[in-house]
Amino acid sequence: MKRVINVTLVFIVSAILMMSCQVDDPSNITVVKAGLLIDGTGNPPLRDVLIFIEGNRITRVAQQEEIPPGATVVDASQQVVMPGLIDTHVHPGNRAIAGPSPEYEASVRHHLKQNLAFGVTTIFSLGLDPDIIFALREESWEDGFDGSRILTAGTGFTAVGGHPTQLGTDLPNQIDDPAQARQRVQELATQGVDGLKIWLAQISGLPPIKTEVSRAIIEEGHQHNLRTFAHINTAADTKSLVEAKLDGITHIARDPYDQETLELMQKQGTIVAPTLVQREKALIFTKENELFEDPVIRAILGQEVDELKEALAKAGPDVLERMAQSYQQAKENVLQLKEAGVKLAVGTDSGTNFAPMGLSTHKEVEAFVDAGLSPMEALVAGTRGSAEWAGVSDRLGTLEAGKLADMLILEENPLVDIRNTRKIVKIILGGRVLEPLTVVE
Ligand SMILES: [Zn+2]
Repeated sequence: MKRVINVTLVFIVSAILMMSCQVDDPSNITVVKAGLLIDGTGNPPLRDVLIFIEGNRITRVAQQEEIPPGATVVDASQQVVMPGLIDTHVHPGNRAIAGPSPEYEASVRHHLKQNLAFGVTTIFSLGLDPDIIFALREESWEDGFDGSRILTAGTGFTAVGGHPTQLGTDLPNQIDDPAQARQRVQELATQGVDGLKIWLAQISGLPPIKTEVSRAIIEEGHQHNLRTFAHINTAADTKSLVEAKLDGITHIARDPYDQETLELMQKQGTIVAPTLVQREKALIFTKENELFEDPVIRAILGQEVDELKEALAKAGPDVLERMAQSYQQAKENVLQLKEAGVKLAVGTDSGTNFAPMGLSTHKEVEAFVDAGLSPMEALVAGTRGSAEWAGVSDRLGTLEAGKLADMLILEENPLVDIRNTRKIVKIILGGRVLEPLTVVE
């Protein structure tokens, strides 16, 4: 009996201690005074809002409330607050460095810093990662990490000799047999991937992955609570994998979708990350070469800016013309998706040619507006839409009570001019207040 009383007493005392710690330590509280809040839900923006942060999470969003004395106040009362951007399709790490090495790891860390400096607070690494990524992923979700949060699909699936092996990429999952694919999904699930990647590209001379292999991957993935994302470039392949209950699509078909596929995508909640910047990539910098001179871009991307400039100088007018046509067609498909009510997310394939980390994410949001989305729709795609695509909308994507405190403070309103997403004054990552240029120092 005595023991029962002691245990009960210990329980009560510790409960009181816990409560008092949680409620009353104002030094643990940060309050962001937002002049305008775009919360990522798609709801109209709110004026003069207080965002309460305790530790790494948002506890309340309120319009009229006292700020507890002793709390840290971040005054953004003349500025705009929005969620950190999420990019669903990134390839961090320098692939020119063979194998997992300290240099390779350093290049991944550098890319995570570049993303964060551009306000991209979470990235999904899509299918080219060595095992070193798992430890980095764990580290990136801890408080105080200097870089964006990372999610990974480990290594992606393709046919034996399929895309992108022609680019010299050594892929372990070149598979033509459904049973072997299921086995490999089980192994990736054990490794702890956050999702699965399939390349189903129709490229002349290269075998596409078989439909029954893709089906097996999607089904086995669902058995392990893993979402599957596929690189697809035709409407027919889109239809066949959407029928197989694919979760997300990267890139966009080079021909129009039929009504049946659009309706099925809408009904099943298939999310598309059209990767418009991949169609427009060289064009972005030929049309807007002032980007090369932007001091913030130069400071974050360093010599990559000069490499971009050089590569562009080599691209002939025929290449640019082809790109312009391809971009036009891709925008028409994006409009089809928007009009059918299909969910969209932002993904850039950054880390490939002409697609610098972080900057590409802003250009993708901008391309959505160019394609006919409203600025609000484009922002929702880059925040909540991307969080849903990545399966992390319970934690990220909107600024609401209970979510991780990842947000951007902007000098000017992106609803007025979408390019204002780049006018970042401060980045808040898990409640920690940072400045863009100090991230990459
Ligand atoms: Zn990719």
